[in-house]
Amino acid sequence: MTLAIAAKAKAMRAEGLDVLDFGAGEPDFDTPDHIKLAAKNALDAGKTKYGAAAGEPLLLEAIANKLNRDNQLPYQPENIIVTNGGKHSLYNLMQALLDPGDEVIIPAPYWLSYPEMVKLASATPVIVNTDLSNNFKITPAQLHQAITSNTKFFILNSPSNPTGVIYTPDEIRALAEVILDHNIWVISDEIYEKTLYDNAEHLSIGSLGSDIFQRTFVSHGFAKTYAMTGWRVGYMAGPVDAIKAMIRLQSHSTSNVCTFAQYGAIAALNGPQDCVAEMLSAFSARRKVILEALNAIPGLECPQPDGAFYMFPSIRKTGMGSMEFCEALLGSHQVAAVPGIAFGADDAIRISYATDMDTIHKGMERLAAFVKSRVG
Ligand SMILES: *Cc1c(COP(=O)(O)O)cnc(C)c1O
Repeated sequence: MTLAIAAKAKAMRAEGLDVLDFGAGEPDFDTPDHIKLAAKNALDAGKTKYGAAAGEPLLLEAIANKLNRDNQLPYQPENIIVTNGGKHSLYNLMQALLDPGDEVIIPAPYWLSYPEMVKLASATPVIVNTDLSNNFKITPAQLHQAITSNTKFFILNSPSNPTGVIYTPDEIRALAEVILDHNIWVISDEIYEKTLYDNAEHLSIGSLGSDIFQRTFVSHGFAKTYAMTGWRVGYMAGPVDAIKAMIRLQSHSTSNVCTFAQYGAIAALNGPQDCVAEMLSAFSARRKVILEALNAIPGLECPQPDGAFYMFPSIRKTGMGSMEFCEALLGSHQVAAVPGIAFGADDAIRISYATDMDTIHKGMERLAAFVKSRVG
């Protein structure tokens, strides 16, 4: 469904129409130079052979240091697997640990691959719908209610793609209590951890204590923080036995992640972090403009997005479904956004601000005109 919108936008562009694209799911910046250089140097140094399936030892160490330092997660290198991106970590985990009949609780709106991965592992996604009144976040009561004797995982994604909202430390604590009460595991997808605004605070659920630490898998990667989507490097940390199972699976399916790409990832973690701050400041300026513009459009309601680079305004007042809304918006005003139905929420659309300021100014004007023409 979302590809249909993207394909139409591309076709319109080819016809010479001035299409403004808010569909991007990746930073619009290039990978920082020092990271590229480290990969080039690794190539020249002959890092071109098979490596350990779990990941290059130097990278495992750098990741363990990062998780201890930034997230207060006491992981050792043996708790970690390097994968072909955050997506691959999640896929490997589900393939390794899920059995038919197992249930995985996924709050909607969700990142679109979660339910598909669960189904690929012959398990059952249990979707819990959240709504605007709670900023599209699952409540402890909702989580409690969704848990059955078949529940294995609960997927927590903060900051969230597609909504951009974050769970506050208190909200994370309350969810952790429910998880511990029922002895399930949490998969904490923290890939947008560094993309936070207005002093918002990220808390890793596994840092709350040794009980919850034992029940946590943390999923992470380099794609979003360091603008490295095409490099395909991510990682997961968790209990040693489970990580070992994932390594065995990876060893017999994809083997090690591209060796020299891992050296780029080492430089990302161990090198200067100014690049992260620079990208964040650009995102932050765009967020301000886009949030003001969205809030000024009667007919849209946007939850406060404190992280990532997406906004997820509700379109329920327009009376349109998200496909109809996005098709009409593209057709009449040449603005491309992603229909919320792709993320399990048909009453909203996703607007990415991984694009330039000029596009944002023009696009928000067109969006306002479109909504006005529909709502009056
Ligand atoms: C982008 C993204 C990922 C993983 O991206 P990779 O490119 O595979 O590292 C994982 N979770 C969410 C929510 C994402 O938006």
